[in-house]
Amino acid sequence: MTEIQDRPAAPLATATFESLSPITGDVVGIHPVHTAEEVEAAVARARDAATWWAGLSYDARATHLSTWKGVITRRLAQLADLMHQETGKPHGDAMLEAALAIDHLAWAGGHAEKVLKRRRVPSGLLMANQAASVEYRPLGVVGVIGPWNYPVFTPMGSIGYALAAGNAVVFKPSEYTPGVGEWLARTFQETVGRPVLQVVTGFGDTGAALCRAGVDKVAFTGSTATGKRVMAACAENLVPVIIEAGGKDAVIVDADADLEAAADATLWGACSNAGQTCAGVERVYVHDRVYDQFMSVLTEKARDLHADASPGSQMGPITMPRQMDVIRSHIQDALDRGGRAVVGGLDAVGERFVQPTILVDVPEDSLAVQEETFGPTVTVARVRDMEEAIARTNATRYGLGSTVFSKSRGMEIAERIRSGMTAINGIISFAAIPSLPFGGVGDSGFGRIHGPDGLREFTYAKAIARQRFKPAMALTSFGRTAKADQQLATIMTMLHGRGTTIPKD
Ligand code: NDP
Repeated sequence: MTEIQDRPAAPLATATFESLSPITGDVVGIHPVHTAEEVEAAVARARDAATWWAGLSYDARATHLSTWKGVITRRLAQLADLMHQETGKPHGDAMLEAALAIDHLAWAGGHAEKVLKRRRVPSGLLMANQAASVEYRPLGVVGVIGPWNYPVFTPMGSIGYALAAGNAVVFKPSEYTPGVGEWLARTFQETVGRPVLQVVTGFGDTGAALCRAGVDKVAFTGSTATGKRVMAACAENLVPVIIEAGGKDAVIVDADADLEAAADATLWGACSNAGQTCAGVERVYVHDRVYDQFMSVLTEKARDLHADASPGSQMGPITMPRQMDVIRSHIQDALDRGGRAVVGGLDAVGERFVQPTILVDVPEDSLAVQEETFGPTVTVARVRDMEEAIARTNATRYGLGSTVFSKSRGMEIAERIRSGMTAINGIISFAAIPSLPFGGVGDSGFGRIHGPDGLREFTYAKAIARQRFKPAMALTSFGRTAKADQQLATIMTMLHGRGTTIPKD
């Protein structure tokens, strides 16, 4: 049984819940259901720890984070095993996920100073007597609410960057992966010895309590519907939020694409992690000229892929039991409306596992094309040209990731897709590049983790204007003269009167 780290005299949580293996149903661990009072106590402890942590130099924080990174790396197999037990994902996939998170942690710790430290900015002609500078200061305590599908990579995109920026973090993992969240906080506690990162466990109420517990920002990753509830709770105290929500990502395959690579990427993007990936592939638009050839490669590959509980399995179970109904209803709706399953279908939905399912001839307004399925299913549609592919890709309220396979027009197509991230001739590659921001538009949310944007997301900009010498014209004084007004008018006419000069520093 786990407890909040460094617990003071506050009473122990009495209620507990079990985390279960989605493969066997066995109990993996028992965890407290932390009450609102306990969440507040955790945030209060984090507040003290945040003062200490923010007072350290960038180098000192980077050293602590680097030590933690080493601990996680040396215990990678242990962490991957726990991830496998709680989510059911194959051990190798868990290793890959954790490895990517470690890489991000290294980047965040190593780049925080360069991105956030005070830097001079031009003060402009009118204020030439001023030295202007800006620095990005930590917010204080950040609440992180995470999902179960990538229980390490996803929350660490917020946790690692928030810590590197000088904040303390209170993390509420999903009720399906509390053990993984607790493991992360425990190893951090062992490394740093202060409650700079704590975990609180429980259900939605615990997450809602975190929004109201006095945190300075909430970084939420989960469904769009829950994201709206998180925003509403945070609005009560004007707590800013980052929302990393769902997606309905498309792959576009152009006539000159490498079809073998495109099919391979499509299948992996749609079916890895059993399709439970926010930026997973759920739709494909293929140029008419290569559609038949692409389908033949894709279906052949898909028929070799199988989800089961065997040790060498490449696809695990559906982690959240109620998702089975969503997946089944999307396939049923597609078939009812004239679609065909060329691989899989309704029979592919078992008790705990869903087999790869490829749907064609599915109307664009059906559930399988419009709503997040979160299973190993994908719709493939024929398009007459790339104009149609782009228009259909953009005809969704989501806008998280996207993929383009094209030898000659990759950049041109990518720039016209309304999504936060696009991979060209690769799949979800943007997520593994620490210097790139990760996040979406529309119903996929807002705000960014990863990269310089991800560091700044957990800070506030602190601007300072320092007078270097007295101004030639005293403009901000009641002693301002008519002559100064006249001089100002003359300067403004020179600078901006023609309307054709664009000031660039
Ligand atoms: P949920 O929205 O169900 O839950 C996300 C987190 O919010 C969980 O920790 C959950 O706790 C908590 N929560 C639930 N209710 C509340 C509430 N009222 N107030 C505060 N917190 C609450 O999402 P899932 O866990 O099912 O994750 C899957 C979703 O996450 C998919 O839509 C997926 O696309 C998205 N996702 C987005 C990513 C991105 O970066 N854009 C990355 C990964 C996933 P509990 O589990 O205890 O209910």
